[in-house]
Amino acid sequence: MATNDNGTAGRERPLNFLEEIIEDHINSVDGRIHTRFPPEPNGYLHIGHAKSICLNFGLAERYGGLCNLRFDDTNPVKEDVEYVDSIKEDIRWLGFRWAEEHYASDYFEQLYAWAVQLIKQGLAYVDDQSQEEIRQTRGTVTVPGTESPWRNRSVEENLDLFARMRAGEFPDGEKVLRAKIDMAHPNMLLRDPIMYRILHTEHHRTGDKWCIYPMYDYAHGQSDSIEKITHSICTLEFDVHRPLYDWFIEKLGIFPSHQYEFARLNLTYTVMSKRKLLQLVENKIVNGWDDPRMPTISAIRRKGYTPAAVRAFAERVGVAKRDNVIDLSLLEFCVREDLNKTAERRMAVLDPLKVTIINYPEGKTEMFEAVNNPEDASAGTRPVPFSREIYIERTDFMEEPPKKYYRLAPGTEVRLRYSYLIKCEEVVKDNAGNVVELRCTYDPQSGNGSSSDGRRVKGVIHWVSVPHARAAEVRLYSNLFTKEDPNDVEEGKTFLDYLNPDSVVVRTGYVEPSLAQAAVGEKFQFERVGYFCVDPDSRPERMVFNRTVGLKDTWAKIADK
Ligand code: ATP
Ligand code: MG
Repeated sequence: MATNDNGTAGRERPLNFLEEIIEDHINSVDGRIHTRFPPEPNGYLHIGHAKSICLNFGLAERYGGLCNLRFDDTNPVKEDVEYVDSIKEDIRWLGFRWAEEHYASDYFEQLYAWAVQLIKQGLAYVDDQSQEEIRQTRGTVTVPGTESPWRNRSVEENLDLFARMRAGEFPDGEKVLRAKIDMAHPNMLLRDPIMYRILHTEHHRTGDKWCIYPMYDYAHGQSDSIEKITHSICTLEFDVHRPLYDWFIEKLGIFPSHQYEFARLNLTYTVMSKRKLLQLVENKIVNGWDDPRMPTISAIRRKGYTPAAVRAFAERVGVAKRDNVIDLSLLEFCVREDLNKTAERRMAVLDPLKVTIINYPEGKTEMFEAVNNPEDASAGTRPVPFSREIYIERTDFMEEPPKKYYRLAPGTEVRLRYSYLIKCEEVVKDNAGNVVELRCTYDPQSGNGSSSDGRRVKGVIHWVSVPHARAAEVRLYSNLFTKEDPNDVEEGKTFLDYLNPDSVVVRTGYVEPSLAQAAVGEKFQFERVGYFCVDPDSRPERMVFNRTVGLKDTWAKIADK
């Protein structure tokens, strides 16, 4: 498509600020685009990471560039291969393919050589102060820091001590390597930042080869530079790190990668910090990282969200330069919008009330053709069995209905979806007065959507034939937290004080027999109920469905206002 007058390049929306930067860059001498997604393998990816993935891979895709996957594995204490594998699976699931797979730990030798270079340039020194002393002598925003007594060691002494740090001569915390910048710099991060610390800890890839590990600020930009990344995109809180990012690259005279910051994604009713997610898992508040109530990619996949929905959500959210909180209902809207087009319809009753059709022959079964997906004619139809005994939803009957109640009530008539009209003749109750069964009659001439005398009936309800129904466990999920921002806690409380006690409700429902063949991960709309997905716990004798999202669209209502 050609670029139109307002510069939207044939898209419905204007360019975002990163696209503007990239279009300028493409028109410059080196028009190559190379991005990277740099997760630390210390937890499972969440929906915030999905935003970053869609952005980095999406920009590369849109502008004919490449995107690398780089594991930022510079902290051996919290990292693990389990996380590496899950991260790769999640990116593939979202539908992206990385150009190159790298590990910051593969660059340890190069990073070490560059640190030696900085020492030789008089721009780095070994400090004997403890990390605590260093913190205390950093000063404040208004007060300059104090120079370390070890700041003016000779190059020879620094080279010797740094080599001995690497050789393992010193215990953890005894020495660090610092960049020699300016202890009075207005940006605190440039007050002689730590480049290396001693950690006698096994690394999940390099084993015990190293006992000194580079800090994020020293490793990240140099890794970008090694990979010749053109646009190093990260979240807003790193904007104060950018001068340091540039300082290392400039002093080393290496490939000039550039850092750009965008606002991180925050969602209502959701915590996304890995530390908090880990707490939910370790305290067994949820059943693991892929519990459908978690915001991790593995959890939303299990819950029934689709890659297309997540990508559409990331696109709608866009990229902002200021922090904001996105309404969870926007994500749910995107899920519904995709599933409405792709998920086949089925009938399932989650809170059953038995109905006996007293004028229907005993032992007879009839098949009705049901439309699989009204949004997609190619999905075809399927036969649904009907018999004298059916289940309907308890909420589709009221003994004393209000006006405009079009479902079943004593003496009223309703259409059974794809089938007959039935009329409620008698209400059967137990000794406690609970309704346990309805006795109805049917109009034998109403099976093709009409009726015997042309009368019109407004209400349509779903149903399942009792002898053909399959019992199934249905897990109804809702928000894990009751507070819109669970990170904003009152004094003396933690985010765990705002847990929703009803975040999962388990029911036994009845589903139509065609669902017996459904595979794990398959998604359906249970008509009039919501979208559901077959859980990995499902067994042929005991099917398990997760509610992905309800049918009610709260987002459209908000957006209309
Ligand atoms: P945490 O601080 O909870 O450990 P993190 O942000 O440090 O998470 P990383 O694995 O370092 O996690 O993140 C990988 C990439 O994903 C980074 O570029 C980071 O900026 C980005 N990212 C993480 N969280 C979000 C978010 N909520 N929205 C957008 N991008 C995010
Ligand atoms: Mg990080």
